[in-house]
Amino acid sequence: MIESPLLEKLTGYIGGRWTDSAQGNTFDVYNPATGEVIAKVPSMPAEDIEAAIAAGKSALKLTNPYSIETRRKWLEDIRDGLKDNREEIGRILCMEHGKPWKEAQGEVDYAAGFFDYCAKHIQALDAHTIPEKPKDCTWTVHYRPIGVAGLITPWNFPIGMIAKKLSAALAAGCPSVIKPASETPLTMIALFSLMDKLDLPDGMVNLVMGKASVIGKVLCESPDVPMLSFTGSTEVGRKLIVDTADQVKKLALELGGNAPYIVFEDADLDAAADNLIANKFRGGGQTCVCANRIFVHEKVADAFGEKLAERVNKMTVGDGMNEGVDIGPLVNKQGFDKVKRHLDDALQKGASLVAGKQPGELGDGLFFPPTVVLGVNRDMCCYQEETFGPLVPMALFRTEEEVIEAGNDTEFGLASYVFTADAERAQRVAAGLRFGHVGWNTGTGPTPEAPFGGMKASGIGREGGLEGLFEFVEPQTVPRGF
Ligand code: NAP
Repeated sequence: MIESPLLEKLTGYIGGRWTDSAQGNTFDVYNPATGEVIAKVPSMPAEDIEAAIAAGKSALKLTNPYSIETRRKWLEDIRDGLKDNREEIGRILCMEHGKPWKEAQGEVDYAAGFFDYCAKHIQALDAHTIPEKPKDCTWTVHYRPIGVAGLITPWNFPIGMIAKKLSAALAAGCPSVIKPASETPLTMIALFSLMDKLDLPDGMVNLVMGKASVIGKVLCESPDVPMLSFTGSTEVGRKLIVDTADQVKKLALELGGNAPYIVFEDADLDAAADNLIANKFRGGGQTCVCANRIFVHEKVADAFGEKLAERVNKMTVGDGMNEGVDIGPLVNKQGFDKVKRHLDDALQKGASLVAGKQPGELGDGLFFPPTVVLGVNRDMCCYQEETFGPLVPMALFRTEEEVIEAGNDTEFGLASYVFTADAERAQRVAAGLRFGHVGWNTGTGPTPEAPFGGMKASGIGREGGLEGLFEFVEPQTVPRGF
């Protein structure tokens, strides 16, 4: 069992108190590197979710709102708490998710960055008077907190994803009811241990855990929850749209991706390979922004494949707590089997193995070696679906038009990447790609300072940047006649 000063309580948190009315109903949390159960956490009943919403409602202040200074202080305190505890939170994160400890600490820094950004820019949420005086009135625009927000997060960035939502919710003055993924509730409990020591109003942040169907139903059906912010699969996102339609709830949805990574013949191939390694293997390839289809110009495909294989063959796979490990285990058996199925399918349909192992050679456990295949096409699962694992599928292309069309040949529109030395071509390709994020000569993903989100079936809304800061407020216009 995991032990940590940040995990002294393993329960939900409602109205400023650790709460457990689950009556012994628990679920197991595993270390994917060892298969061991490292904690048991409560599977909370629907009444607890309702209590959390009620606590949130009591913390919402409309007529006498929390001042900008107060809200900034909350954000700064959480930022500082994360920074001071980066190693310990990173350790907990590594043990329940599997990603290397150092990388996990980097995720804690990333999370702190969102609280920092919102603290620095919170003034933008102050009311302002517009310079014109239409209709003989003075017009003031206020940014009102939307109300109690349900925040639902995935397991792939256990601290990063909640930071994006919670920083903007607190900046707006919105209380929240937070549900972490069942694979990774411990990092969230650690965050709540930090917040428990801060001067946050009771009910401002509430933690619920357990069956997604139970929690989702209460959050979707409660008229006291006017907004849901969800990061996860497009499949669940679609369900939330349907389940909240009656109430016309505001939804912020960060959903799945199927990122094209385009390497033109004039690209710096070493830079493209280095960036692909960093982009693709972060979190073991289990990120929404990682390259899922690599399109390489046919003239440079062999050279690029060799560069990739050279780098991939030096990577170390193992328990993320061990020094020098580049890639940890996949989060669960379901995820492992999916990557294996994608590899098997690609090889059966004619792709060739450039680096890695045949599916039959893969051993026990959840460790999947970094694998590169060449000759991928749109009939293969790895082209159509989000693989979510360390498989690099390369397809060939000849022309710019053809590769823009191929890149867009997916219902998703989250992240994409283009490597070329030609600035005009990069501009044309970026404009043609229907993706919320287009890296040009970089494989970097989102940052707290810039808006990030999906087009098409990858979502609704943005997190990060000023756009993200405004997600949890509703503009209210007050024209004053005299
Ligand atoms: P998931 O299965 O959709 O689950 C995400 C969260 O939703 C979990 O907390 C899950 O709870 C909960 N959930 C499941 N069914 C629900 C329901 N009916 N009502 C309410 N909540 C429900 O996704 P995942 O496997 O954790 O995450 C991987 C996916 O997230 C990938 O598709 C990835 O691309 C996407 N993602 C997108 C972004 C982005 O910024 N766009 C970022 C990261 C990840 P349980 O864990 O208890 O089932």
